[in-house]
Amino acid sequence: MTQVQEEQRRYALAISGGVCEACGKPLVDGHMQAAHRIGNTKMNRAKYGSFVIDHRYNVGYTCSLACNASLDISGEPDAVMRLCAEIYTKEAHILRC
Ligand SMILES: [Zn+2]
Repeated sequence: MTQVQEEQRRYALAISGGVCEACGKPLVDGHMQAAHRIGNTKMNRAKYGSFVIDHRYNVGYTCSLACNASLDISGEPDAVMRLCAEIYTKEAHILRC
């Protein structure tokens, strides 16, 4: 696990309260799945950039593959745009402060 992945994991656990974001079951260390909301595909990386794909807002933690899949918003353009806006607003705010 890279340092960035470790930080993402700690952040996700902190905001999720240690439970699966999709079903609410407790997350078991070593078995949890990092779920990308905008899918981690070559096409999405080309379209939205690694900045968005790897951003902590784009990653949720889930207990299983089924719950992992339920977080995917790749097919919902409105939800994708809202998430991108949230990420850019958050980062722009950090840069201003
Ligand atoms: Zn779950």
